[in-house]
Amino acid sequence: MMMKENFTPQALKLWERVPAWAQEKLLANVYCTKCVAMTTIINFSGHVVDGDLILSGVCKACASEVTRLIESE
Ligand SMILES: [Zn+2]
Repeated sequence: MMMKENFTPQALKLWERVPAWAQEKLLANVYCTKCVAMTTIINFSGHVVDGDLILSGVCKACASEVTRLIESE
């Protein structure tokens, strides 16, 4: 389902620390400004900014670009 080749090594490290159930939850709770609703992010890639993991992908419903920030603890 996820494409690891789209993740930077640093991002992959952070992502793999997230339990699978929590990953699913995060991916299904992304706000889309076009839909003005929560959506599921698909075709996403991952990179790290200031220690936080950023997932960039598209909305499952309307294919607009969406991003999800995952703060590192
Ligand atoms: Zn949307």
